[in-house]
Amino acid sequence: RNPLAPADTNAAVPPSPPLPRQNSKTTPPSPPNIIADKSGRHKFQRVGFLGEGGFAPVYEIMDPANKRLACKVVTMSSLKTKKAKTKLYADMKIHRSLSHPNIVGFIDCFEGDDNVYITLELCSSGSLMDLLRHRQRFTELKARFFVVQLTGTCQYMHNQSVIHRDLKLGNLFLDGLNIKVGDFGLAALIESAGEQTICGTPNYIAPEVLFDTASGHSFEVDTWSIGVILYTLVVGRPPFQTKDVKAIYQKIRNNDYSFPAPPPASPSVPSRNLITDILTQDPAQRPSLLSIVAHEWFLMGPVPAYIPTSAHDSPPDWS
Ligand code: ADP
Repeated sequence: RNPLAPADTNAAVPPSPPLPRQNSKTTPPSPPNIIADKSGRHKFQRVGFLGEGGFAPVYEIMDPANKRLACKVVTMSSLKTKKAKTKLYADMKIHRSLSHPNIVGFIDCFEGDDNVYITLELCSSGSLMDLLRHRQRFTELKARFFVVQLTGTCQYMHNQSVIHRDLKLGNLFLDGLNIKVGDFGLAALIESAGEQTICGTPNYIAPEVLFDTASGHSFEVDTWSIGVILYTLVVGRPPFQTKDVKAIYQKIRNNDYSFPAPPPASPSVPSRNLITDILTQDPAQRPSLLSIVAHEWFLMGPVPAYIPTSAHDSPPDWS
């Protein structure tokens, strides 16, 4: 059993497996240039578009003191059912309750005429997914840097009785090169609306989420995702990647993945050992978060206290 897991494993746990998002086919109209709430207490200028989430678009906005923030714009029409509304507020409550240097800061939430606005700390360096697209794969030194941050953040979340359940490269934003875990509970909102079907690539879902719903699943699903993320960082693609979603599920069920053979594409033996330890089918047999960071892979070289931003484009020179 993971010694870091709090006793009450039911707290703040959404009930069913996180399904991949379904991108809406019709793009909602842009929010107004001046984003304000009904009372006029909040007033921001919309300055840019950051990205289209599976559920809501995200814009860059500026407050009266010229401070830039991210703003998720949820249309009222997507919150028609009481269930959807309740879920959105429950999920925001989880995010709002968390305060950690490696978690995207939740700032505020307010209602305008047509939308609900959720303001968040701005992560202007994109996500680890964007960074990976730029680089074929990461050096193990850099992967170590990210995995230490991610594992520490998971420990914090789990201590707060929160399971993220949707850890993936696209949800790991960057501030410079520090990880900021984002996207809390939006998956739970979408799944609770009951309108989503499986689409996209559920590469990071733990096997017990897919196949063991009777006994439920717990903190170890995030541990599984750390294993998938580590594999993806050092290999350059997720371990169970295929085009067909059902085939991905099958591969997860059979623990069917392998490492690329010839160097330099092949990760080091210690990193392979750690990935193999983490991607254990039985959640109870997965290593604790503490034993992950105590693994020999972290002793192979320094875990840098920082990484220069030039590492976005080329491997850092530590000589
Ligand atoms: P999804 O629903 O697909 O997980 P999100 O709704 O979290 O995605 O975000 C959609 C896009 O908006 C992201 O891919 C990213 O480009 C951008 N984004 C989200 N949150 C932030 C943020 N806090 N700072 C900067 N960009 C963000």
